[in-house]
Amino acid sequence: MTIKTYEAIGYGITRIETGLVRPGLAACYVMQHENEVAIIETGTHHTVATIMAFLESNKIEPEQVRYVIPTHVHLDHAGGVGGLMARLPKAKLVIHPKGARHMIAPEKLKAGALEVYGEEKFSQMYGDIIPVAEDRVIVAEDNDTADLNGRILKFLDTPGHARHHFCVYDAVSEGVFTGDTFGLSYPELVTQDAPFLMPTTTPVQFEPEPLKASISKLMSLAPKRMFLTHYGLLESPEKWVDSLIEQINAYVTIAEHNKHSENLESDLTNALTQYTLEKLKSHATSLSESELHNLIKMDMTLNAQGLAVWLSRQ
Ligand SMILES: [Zn+2]
Repeated sequence: MTIKTYEAIGYGITRIETGLVRPGLAACYVMQHENEVAIIETGTHHTVATIMAFLESNKIEPEQVRYVIPTHVHLDHAGGVGGLMARLPKAKLVIHPKGARHMIAPEKLKAGALEVYGEEKFSQMYGDIIPVAEDRVIVAEDNDTADLNGRILKFLDTPGHARHHFCVYDAVSEGVFTGDTFGLSYPELVTQDAPFLMPTTTPVQFEPEPLKASISKLMSLAPKRMFLTHYGLLESPEKWVDSLIEQINAYVTIAEHNKHSENLESDLTNALTQYTLEKLKSHATSLSESELHNLIKMDMTLNAQGLAVWLSRQ
């Protein structure tokens, strides 16, 4: 499967491969409208060069970029913010109220990632995190809008994956940039008939009820399509939403069933993996079980960690 670095997907939107871990894992988006540009999600600091190269090859001046919009401050979404802002003199950062301070003073964010990954892996995966000047930050409350030369982007507070998460509704495409709220759909698992959508419950702020409420909130807009960070364009989201909710409910059942386990994280990882592989059996991909396992392995581990943190707060 080949993932293009830059792929025009209609409505003035280009999907950009961020280069994190493997092609097809994390995307970001450039939206062009009447000579103005918004960048939604940034990938990591390593992605900055890829985005700048796209602008240059499309004869977009850095001054034309008006907004940089990460859906939340996790590093696969916002790691490139500071590096981009330094190269885009007129851009404003639009960010969730609970995320702003982490972009202005990213020390805590960086320390957290260093603790999880160690110096070498952090540098390899994320590169760096650069602060953004406070006067370049716009905090978007629920239902706030931004105007991209007449194209209105609406921000929706969507807790559940993280409390610092918003989604972005774009009236032109009738689509939502969903960040991690509407789950993951990897290109390798998209068949002729259907995508395979699964939830992401990464640490440390997963909350099932708010997540389901946020998904309902998105669906109440009757969107025709979703732009997933992981990964790409998803048409007709109403067809897949039930399966996503069903999986979130199953995660909670699995978590509660295992809550007294002595090896909580590994038991949860195994149970989530088994559950997901079982579901994948009825989803006709051409991949073998070990290929499927490889593809979901990292997410199952992260999802288990997120569930364990959630249990510890009950
Ligand atoms: Zn993510």
